[in-house]
Amino acid sequence: MTDHLNDETLDDLREDLERRRAELTNNSKRALDDIREGRERGGGGGDSVDESTEEQGRSTMLRLKDRERKLLTKVNRALERLESDDYGYCLECDEPIPEKRLQARPVTLYCIDCKEERERSEERRKTRPGLMDDFQA
Ligand SMILES: [Zn+2]
Repeated sequence: MTDHLNDETLDDLREDLERRRAELTNNSKRALDDIREGRERGGGGGDSVDESTEEQGRSTMLRLKDRERKLLTKVNRALERLESDDYGYCLECDEPIPEKRLQARPVTLYCIDCKEERERSEERRKTRPGLMDDFQA
């Protein structure tokens, strides 16, 4: 049960998450439209299409889509947890996540301790020794 958050707060967070989901869905639709439009424009001009520019545009689009897709997954997971009354509890240690943290980052599924621990181990995997230590010193 999500009992450390009141209904009003949960409604606000759900609204926020649903708005983000709508924005992300619209964004990826728009990105697809842009790709399609670009292809149509290039159709009539023979070899006037600058292929490297087109290639660049496409990879930017794909990167963006990838990032958006990841965020969309997070938003959906948060919404699922809202539905099942698990929202607001850390996925890792089951401790309640403070309301302020949820309001700042409604997609978060971890308490600050677990999140930092995960970031530290991700950072270690990325083989960039010392970088985080410098920031945290
Ligand atoms: Zn935790």
